[in-house]
Amino acid sequence: QSKKNGKSRYTIFKPDMDSRAFERLQLATDLRRAIELQEFKLYYQPIVELENGTIVGLEALVRWEHPRIGLISPAKFIPLAEETGLILPIGEWVLETACRQAKYWHLRYPDRAPLTVSVNLSAKQFQQPQLEDKIAQILARIELAPQNLKLEITESMMMEQGDATIATLYKLKNLGIQLAIDDFGTGFSALSYLKRFPVDTLKIDRSFIKGLGYNREDTAIVHAVIAFAKALHLSVTAEGIETAEQLSQLQALRCDRGQGYYFSQPITADAVQLLIDRNCDPHLDRFPPKDGSN
Ligand code: C2E
Ligand code: MG
Ligand code: MG
Ligand code: MG
Repeated sequence: QSKKNGKSRYTIFKPDMDSRAFERLQLATDLRRAIELQEFKLYYQPIVELENGTIVGLEALVRWEHPRIGLISPAKFIPLAEETGLILPIGEWVLETACRQAKYWHLRYPDRAPLTVSVNLSAKQFQQPQLEDKIAQILARIELAPQNLKLEITESMMMEQGDATIATLYKLKNLGIQLAIDDFGTGFSALSYLKRFPVDTLKIDRSFIKGLGYNREDTAIVHAVIAFAKALHLSVTAEGIETAEQLSQLQALRCDRGQGYYFSQPITADAVQLLIDRNCDPHLDRFPPKDGSN
């Protein structure tokens, strides 16, 4: 018994574990300085109206350009940012930057229906008191019409908080912004609960889109979510569309919008503009433009 303990204590201090802990600490230190050093970058992934292929919005997705390590994906540093509380300043930077970008696009493309910008909220941000005041200040400062901002909150985040969630959602909704449930289908929410949430959009998690058309369960889930959204008068967006087959199935199901590598990966703001400029002729502003046979 004691030998076993001694052994496990030894493993805790194995040199590679030690260096991994050190690495994490180093990364947390770097993360703290990353905002002032302007190491974060927003990428934008087009969200497309499936009926006609028009780009109607962009989801802002953050990346960290670490000077030593290179590009770090949010899956790697958002959890660390959550644990250290740094997600609050980072999240605020993301919101401000995305709203500014949307405002810029509205001024640049005055003849186009205003693009909506979608921003992911983390759990800590969502639980932040006076979140709605912070967001209202940003919108006012930038003079962005609130309906052009859509906040994405995951299904599991909403479920963690119970009744407090509903109060928070109403405060946000009262600003006039839009709300979406991200990664829908992965959070095991009671469907009856959802009707009490003042949300506008369900985003079907890409794990279900993956099997659409050949995995029976995935296909059934996608059908059910779309039918459910329509019954509750919510709009529905499919995440992770990668193939023409997935697109045509979703079109047949009258899914409202989609995003995924089939249309575009997340790209820089400049690349978004090239896409829009190239497609300024409404007849060319259609996906899929890739093979030219369209
Ligand atoms: P998410 O909000 O569900 O974002 C969609 C993720 O799926 C993005 O990964 C996107 O690049 C990826 N994706 C889009 N289309 C496809 C596709 O066709 N195939 C595949 N395989 N993947 C696709 P990304 O950018 O690495 O972000 C991962 C997650 O990190 C996001 O998931 C979101 O939860 C979180 N995240 C990203 N940016 C932020 C942020 O600014 N704040 C917070 N709190 N979380 C963020
Ligand atoms: Mg999202
Ligand atoms: Mg998602
Ligand atoms: Mg996801």
